[in-house]
Amino acid sequence: MLEEMGLAPVWHLRGAPAVVDEEPVTGHQSPVTDSGDRRGEIMSLDWDRLKARVASCTDCPLHATRKKTVFGVGDEAADWLLVGEGPGADEDAQGEPFVGQAGKLLDNMLAAISLKRGANVYIANILKCRPPGNRNPEPHEALQCEPYLHRQIELIRPKLIIALGRVAAANLLASEASVASMRGKIHRYRGIPLIVTYHPAYLLRNLTDKAKAWEDLLFAVRTMEVLRKGAEAPT
Ligand code: URA
Repeated sequence: MLEEMGLAPVWHLRGAPAVVDEEPVTGHQSPVTDSGDRRGEIMSLDWDRLKARVASCTDCPLHATRKKTVFGVGDEAADWLLVGEGPGADEDAQGEPFVGQAGKLLDNMLAAISLKRGANVYIANILKCRPPGNRNPEPHEALQCEPYLHRQIELIRPKLIIALGRVAAANLLASEASVASMRGKIHRYRGIPLIVTYHPAYLLRNLTDKAKAWEDLLFAVRTMEVLRKGAEAPT
């Protein structure tokens, strides 16, 4: 699997240090908020109603250009939640996150740490609808979509969130910091430990940073081990 990430034979899990509590930590900041009524309504929905609400959403202009909404996929009681940016053309056509080239790399990254989509892993995006031409989400689009992801996270109750790339990290942490500066730290999204790494699409274009992404995955595995032992992730 590391070969598929383009990393073999340099990295192996056994060499990873076992403790994480010396890692620097950043404080949790509240993500952007929208009108209380709409959020309250969305936060009251169960899985089926939430899926239906997203499928019929017309609350931002992206609904006009989407083919399919991309709700999210995986184990609805997963310990691991991966959050990307928004659907691309393949995802828009199929209605599932990370099914294109970047998705293949993401699946290989998961396999490298003995995980796979659907098995204790849930994958979602900041946006449920594709921005035309794969441009970055506009703030008002992310704002309208945020309660959906917030509700998904409440329902899943993951032990650890991995933010894939700057857009995911910026929206989840309300921070404009670079991925490089956010890596290697345990952040918090509404109290849930969150680790930032590079987006797989970025890694496809910047092969040398794959080694850094592998470090981040090892850090995430070590963090999960600590969390599973019932210890609080460092705050
Ligand atoms: N990129 C993302 O951020 N999400 C997807 O679902 C696909 C590509």
